[in-house]
This record gives sequence, structure tokens and C-alpha cells, in this order.
Amino acid sequence: MAEETREDLATLSELDEKRLLEALSTRFTQNHIYTYIGDILIAVNPFKYLPLYEKTVSDLYKCHEKSLLPPHIFSVADRAYQSMLGKLATGPRNQCIVISGESGAGKTESTKLLLRQIMELCKANSQLERQILQVNPLLEAFGNAQTVMNDNSSRFGKYIQLRFQNASVKGAKINEYLLEKSRVVHQDEGERNFHIFYYMLGGISAAEKEIYGLLNPVLYRYINNQYGTDEMITQWSTKYLEVCNAMDMVGFHEQEKVDMMTILAGILSLGNIGFEPQENAILKVTDQSTGWLKAAAGQFGVQEDELLNCLICTMSVTRGESINRYHSQQQAEDARDSIAKVAYGRVFGWIVSKINELLTPKETFDDLHEIGILDIFGFENFAVNRYEQLCINLANEQLQYFFNHHIFLMGQREYKEEGIDWETITFKDNKPILDLFLAKPVGIFSLLDEQSAFPQATDKNFVEKLNSSFKGNAHFEVVRSHMPMFSIVHYAGRVQYNASGFLEKNRDTIPANIRGLFINSVTPLLSVLFAATISRTGTLMPQSRAKLLKSIDDNFNSTRKLSVGAQFKHSLTVLMEKMFAANPHFIRCIKPNSSKKPDLLDSKLIMEQLRYNGLLETIRIRRDGYSWRPLFEDFAQRYRILLIKPDVPSNKETCLCILNNANLKDWKCGHSRLFFKYWHQEELAKLIERLE
Ligand code: ADP
Ligand code: MG
Repeated sequence: MAEETREDLATLSELDEKRLLEALSTRFTQNHIYTYIGDILIAVNPFKYLPLYEKTVSDLYKCHEKSLLPPHIFSVADRAYQSMLGKLATGPRNQCIVISGESGAGKTESTKLLLRQIMELCKANSQLERQILQVNPLLEAFGNAQTVMNDNSSRFGKYIQLRFQNASVKGAKINEYLLEKSRVVHQDEGERNFHIFYYMLGGISAAEKEIYGLLNPVLYRYINNQYGTDEMITQWSTKYLEVCNAMDMVGFHEQEKVDMMTILAGILSLGNIGFEPQENAILKVTDQSTGWLKAAAGQFGVQEDELLNCLICTMSVTRGESINRYHSQQQAEDARDSIAKVAYGRVFGWIVSKINELLTPKETFDDLHEIGILDIFGFENFAVNRYEQLCINLANEQLQYFFNHHIFLMGQREYKEEGIDWETITFKDNKPILDLFLAKPVGIFSLLDEQSAFPQATDKNFVEKLNSSFKGNAHFEVVRSHMPMFSIVHYAGRVQYNASGFLEKNRDTIPANIRGLFINSVTPLLSVLFAATISRTGTLMPQSRAKLLKSIDDNFNSTRKLSVGAQFKHSLTVLMEKMFAANPHFIRCIKPNSSKKPDLLDSKLIMEQLRYNGLLETIRIRRDGYSWRPLFEDFAQRYRILLIKPDVPSNKETCLCILNNANLKDWKCGHSRLFFKYWHQEELAKLIERLE
């Protein structure tokens, strides 16, 4: 086979960036979008339909031998599934599939394909499986949006855990990370708000429009006063039907659906409220927007004057005495936007918790195994990088650490322990960057929490604190600017952050009066959403309305909760613990060009992604390394049927006997275990098959 068209790049004899790029490019032009590097799958987004996912293909990749078929994402699904059943390597039965890549590289499509194929693999055709597949349109409608990078960009990260008892799926759970709430109130040039707003506006009937109090879409500022062409509107209305069906399927009550749409309508009205000062310096809403205030209050099910009050002043209660602090115009606009963001965020959280309720296993099983699929934003470096980018890039540092740990460190440590020669592989260990972020008490997130706890602290104070704490740290750079800026040298390169708004975003507190307002809303859903507590991992935990009305008074003045950063840090820790205890599979998605076009390759862009992904290092380690390392006992027990007299003890001698008989080459023997290349396992499987 010509070197360029090789399906497993770990077998390339010579290896450098150029060859790697050439190999991927040649395969891409032949519509071979999938390529292995050992057991890592590279997927280049084709941006066009390819006949790769039909039923025949799906059947072909069931319980197959990997080396006999071209690389495919279904192959990863099969391996995860078979390993979960304990049919492949020894090792943890729980599996995790990590999908990485930048926005638009194809992570979410890959997730969907994996889910679909895994559901195919467990054959049964139960309602649960259908439900697992059908919740996706709902998640995407509320969590995805059109961006410059991707017309259907996920604005949240997710970890989907499928739970199995033996071969059949018994339940699923979705964890969501960092929904980009700011999109509700602002979208950059060429971008849109969350899909659901357009779907709703396009899909509801005239009668429903009336019920929800919706007017002409171009009137709404939160969607940039832009709507769509007739063709788009037709598509959106189809999507709206799909969302409604998904909601029925998930088990939303009719009233909840109506409430949800009314809240969305309320958010749109809210966005149109403007303010102007009166003579007494207290703000009032502009004459043009009194109608919007009235509409929003109606849609939110609250009193107009109370809503207005929340917008133009903050009330604080000190020892039973309440004091009103009047807002500046900017503060009133911020209050308006934060109401919209928090309301939307809570609706989203609630949808996810409803989905999880539906998908949770109906009985308790004590022997469940999991396949987890992680679809989370890739490394980001924009013209302006904000709090969101800081969190996203921290997540990517963690993932890179996991990857490094798995591929490099685990390998090396064991070689040493087992007395096997091994040239020391150098790679960029990013532990120091993780420490920079996570160390206590002096890490970026701890300092951010510390500053967030002071009501008077500013973003500038925070950056000054960083500058003095991390001067001399190789991964931190001071930026001279009148803006609160700092730089971090990430594993993937230097990113400059603008800390304006960091403290506010990190605190993310709902002013007590706003919470009180919504808890008292006559819209039941809204009242439940605002009474809900948020758990340590950021999960929304609704409480019963009765219980909560009782506790309103207690809650009224208590806005203490974990910061956004602390929640995110905690959910990352939980995720990492799960991942480190599972058998990992890696899929690296690559975007061939920035214009979302088929058959177009931008070498520079691809090269950058290969570097970000650490793929080049991976090739080397995979080709040279021993990725499968069973203990003598395990190996002997499993493969002694290959001997003529299998009735022998499970020890080193037996292993050597088996291997000599099998005539395998290139493996190594340590003190307690054997070392195999990734392809040995398949050779052994072939031998066993021949026996059977
Ligand atoms: P990401 O989640 O990485 O941001 P997506 O999975 O949303 O990216 O993919 C972006 C777009 O690329 C999709 O909307 C789709 O048009 C296209 N795409 C991705 N993967 C495939 C594929 N395997 N085949 C065809 N088109 C794809
Ligand atoms: Mg996505």
C-alpha cells in the first residue's frame, strides 16, 4: 500500500509533520475521512454527505475485526461496546470516549453517530433506546446556535453516560457544562441566538402567538432585530415540530411546554426595555418601551411595578431593614440582561434534569457498566478571550493532561517498573499549567473566588493579584495595558485574556429581589425554577413549590452559593475521576477549512490542529510503544486455550509457551506482565477464532 493512503498512520516508516499532513490530505481527497493512529481515530469533517453511515455499513461494523475494515467511527463504537462487555482487553469495564477538536470540527456529529451505532449494537428496540436518541433535538434546540465557525454550534459541553447491564442499555445520564448564557442577550456579527427562539417564532400558530404574546420577530433586540428568509422560516417551523415531539416524548406536561414558551417570549420582551433618567435621578422605562415592560411582566407572571423595581434598584436587607439602592442606566441594563440570562439558563438546566429523570434506570441494578461520551468545546483563542474561554481552555488543559497521562506517562512508568528498556520520550507535560489554574490557595480560580467575595473588588484588582502572585511563572505573562489583561501560555499556545467582567461572571448571583419576584410568579414553572437550588456540580435541583414558598423568607436574603468557577472546577474533577477510572478511546476531529466547504483543505489550519491535538507525538509513541500490558495471570488464563494441553498454571512460563506457540513477534516480557503492541491483541483474537 502506498504510504500516503495508509489507514493506520502508526505504521508509517518515516514520520514528521509533513508526512502526516500528506497522508491525511490524500485520504481526504479520496473521501476517506477516517484514519487511525494506532487506536486513536482521526476524523476530518467532510462538510458534505458521504454514504458512510447506512444500515449496511452499520451492520458491517458490528463485532468486526478492526484491521479488516477501513477506519470508521462505528469501529470505535464497537470496540467500546465489546470492551464494556469484557470481551476485549482486560482492564476497566467502564469506557469513556473522548472527542476533541475545535468548533465545527465534527464533535457533535460524531457523538450522534456513536450513540446511534451503540444503540444498534445492543440490538433490542426498546422505548428507552428511542428516547435516548430523541432527546438530542431538544438539547440542540436550546443549547446550539449558529456561529461564524459552525451553523449548528453547541454552546455547552456534555458528557453522556450510557448505562448497561450486560448487553442491554438500562439508562442514561447527561451532564452539561458551561452553557454560554451571554448569547441570550448578545450575539456577535454573523451569529445568532439559540436556535429555539427562531424555531418558536417560525413554528407557532397565530393563535399561539397570541397566547404567548409574541409580535413580529424583527422587533426583538435580543435576536438583533433579524429574522430569516421564507425558506429558513419553513425549516425552523419543521424544527419546532420536532422539538415539540421531543418534549412530548420526554414527558413534559402541556402546561410546562406553554410555560416554557411563555418564558422565552418574556425574555424577548424584556430585551426591548430601555431606560431613561427622570428629574429625581431615579430611572424610568422609556416611553417606547412601557409596552414591553407590560408584556414581559405578563409573560413572566409577575406584577409590572415589581418587575420595574427589580430593574431600577437593588434592595438589600440588613438586620430586617430593607434599603433601596437606585441603579444607573448601565446597571439597569445589566439587571435586565442578567434576568434574561438566568431565566434562560434555568430553563436549560431544567430541561436537562427532566431528560435525566426520564432516562434514569427504573430499577436499581448493582452491576451496571458505563460507556461515557464526552463532547466538549475545543481549545479557543479568539481576538478577545473572556471568562468563558478561560473555563473552556482549563477544560482542555485537563483533557490534554488526561491524554498525556494515558498515552505517555502510564506507558513510561510501567516500562521502568517492569525493567524494560525504553528511551525516554519527551513531551510537554502540562501539569504546571493545571497547577497555575487550580492550586489552592494561590491559583487563578482561588484568587478569582477570593476577589469575588469582596463586593468592592474590581476586575483590575484581580489582575493585579495575578500579576503579583505569578510573576516569574513560566506559564503566566503580565500584559501592560489600561485594560485588565493577562496572558497564559497554554499547552496549545499563548492566549491573552481580557478580565473585564470576570468577577461578575464568576459570582453570577441573582439579586435577592429578582429571585423573590420570580418565586412568586403565577407561572408555575418559573416559580419552581427560581426556587430550585443548584448542586455542587451545577445541576438544577427543583424543589416542591410548597416547601419552597415556606422557605422564601429564609432564601430571600441568602444569595451565597458556589461561584461559577468553583462549580465548574468541581464538575471537572468529578469528570476526571470518572475518566481516569475508565478505559479510554480517543477521537480527534479536524476541520479541513474555515469556510465550512466540502473538498477544500487548508494545510495551515490542519497543521495547527495537529499540533494542538498533540497528534504528532502520539504517532511516535503509538508506533514505538506497547499499548496493551496484561498481567501474566490474566493473559495465561485468557489465552491458554491456545495450548494443546490447556490445563497449566497461570504463570509466566505458560505465557511464554503460548506466545512461542502463537509465533507472535515484537512483544516484551516484564517482571509481572507482558507488553504488546496494539495489533497483537487482534492477532491473538484471530487465532482464537480459528479454534472456535
Ligand atoms: P463541533 O461539534 O465540533 O463544533 P459539528 O459536529 O456540529 O462540530 O459539525 C459541524 C458541521 O459539520 C455539521 O453541522 C455538519 O454539517 C458537518 N459535519 C460534521 N461531521 C460530518 C460528517 N461525518 N459528515 C458530513 N458532515 C459532517
Ligand atoms: Mg458541537
